[in-house]
Amino acid sequence: MLRGSAALLRRLAPRVLGGGCGNTTHRRLPPPIAPFLHARFLSAPTTSSSPPSSSSAAGHDEEAEDRELPKISNGDAGALLSISVDRSGLYNPPEHSHESSSDSELVKHIKSIIKFRSGPISIAEYMEEVLTNPQSGFYINRDVFGESGDFITSPEVSQMFGEMIGVWAMCLWEQMGKPAKVNLTELGPGRGTLLADLLRGSAKFFNFTKALSINLVECSPTLQKLQYNTLKCEDEHVDDGKRTVSKLCGAPVCWHASLEQVPSGSPTIIIAHEFYDALPIHQFQKASRGWCEKMVDLAEDSSFRFVLSPHPTPSLIYLTKRCGWASSEELEKIEHIEVCPKAMELTEQIADRISSDGGGALIIDYGKNGIVSDSLQAIRKHKFVDILDDPGSADLSAYVDFASIKHSAEEASDDISVHGPMTQSQFLGSLGINFRVEALLQNCTEEQAESLRTGYWQLVGDGEAPFWEGPEDQTPIGMGTRYLAMAIVNKKQGTPIPFE
Ligand code: SAH
Repeated sequence: MLRGSAALLRRLAPRVLGGGCGNTTHRRLPPPIAPFLHARFLSAPTTSSSPPSSSSAAGHDEEAEDRELPKISNGDAGALLSISVDRSGLYNPPEHSHESSSDSELVKHIKSIIKFRSGPISIAEYMEEVLTNPQSGFYINRDVFGESGDFITSPEVSQMFGEMIGVWAMCLWEQMGKPAKVNLTELGPGRGTLLADLLRGSAKFFNFTKALSINLVECSPTLQKLQYNTLKCEDEHVDDGKRTVSKLCGAPVCWHASLEQVPSGSPTIIIAHEFYDALPIHQFQKASRGWCEKMVDLAEDSSFRFVLSPHPTPSLIYLTKRCGWASSEELEKIEHIEVCPKAMELTEQIADRISSDGGGALIIDYGKNGIVSDSLQAIRKHKFVDILDDPGSADLSAYVDFASIKHSAEEASDDISVHGPMTQSQFLGSLGINFRVEALLQNCTEEQAESLRTGYWQLVGDGEAPFWEGPEDQTPIGMGTRYLAMAIVNKKQGTPIPFE
């Protein structure tokens, strides 16, 4: 463990919050975890496990066919379009339709985009609509986290996750020279649990909490409200209007639609936990005529289906960019590639921000340090489902390509350095999560102790839970090696802990 973080850990608030662990499922991981811990757990070694095969995603690739797209009727009794016309502004005549009356608003909307465009849309466009369509995207109108939601994330598993991120942030702030003002920005804060645990844990470090201005980048009005409550926010009237303050630490809190809108000019600490995996990806597949983009189209019966684009698509430019960062051996092996232009752009913005304002960013997500082949998956109510089934009712996410993030950041600025990725297990272990769990276990009820031990294992464990005694197909899988941590910092800050 690091000396700097050891001193901080001793002073973290001793409270046990209960935590959300128990019989809920982590996002991306199959079924529930036992609400109890077998004694064997404490002595069991953690074994490393390989990431789930891409077949664990809904298995749609068989449906993508290497063939020309069917021509799409222009509504004139079977006449086929032979030229491309921009029909987006035209009235769509009430033609014979196979559309199911039970289609949700979002399904109708996505179908209308495909029809008006007279052709399929990219998976990235589909994903963006499904997740963040302002009316009915998956994240927009509901709380998708926890037992009654669709998946559970690390901050919901245990308070220790947010506390450890707090240790990281305070150490970086010290390396930054303890600036009197720092923009603490979280991208996609979910329920706000990570930040609340970070702030509670760091409550005794007055100089740190006094310096904070909190900025939350969140697209969902529902989740913004939840974050407001979790952070115990209150509105205060000040001379030039109103400001929102978190009563957990007295820091002002603001919400933004994107990182670009977060005010610049002060040193910054950016946290992105499970944010990148929700950014829309393009999928490409190797065919006899070269790399083709996989697209979402409508079948004869008006259901969604995958097809391969017969023509080069604009996003090929990002495929070329991504392949330019890969070795020829890496490229030879693959038949599919996922490319995430939004991740590249976001990383460039982060790198620019950090080089101009100072500070650093921490990115934690599930992913790979290299090309991601075929990882897109849909999860509804803690189960993997078909990616094209009832869009908007299931989470869509893809493995994060950490090598692409590293290259994007390094190309964007010479003033930053990129560290990692390292596994979540190494990251939390080096920051001292084992000391934290021991400290918390000193002063808690038996129920809380169970919850703490289970949560600890979920965060740092690897492979199948050794203590599991329930149904085999429900064996919980640890997140210790599937999740990776990467830091991007201004070179002036030196190497951030625990990446030395
Ligand atoms: N970090 C949280 C939540 C992860 S889920 C946790 O670990 O628990 C992804 C979060 O990002 C949600 O809050 C979602 O509403 C938000 N989000 C997803 N795409 C977004 C986008 N394009 N812009 C802003 N917020 C987005």
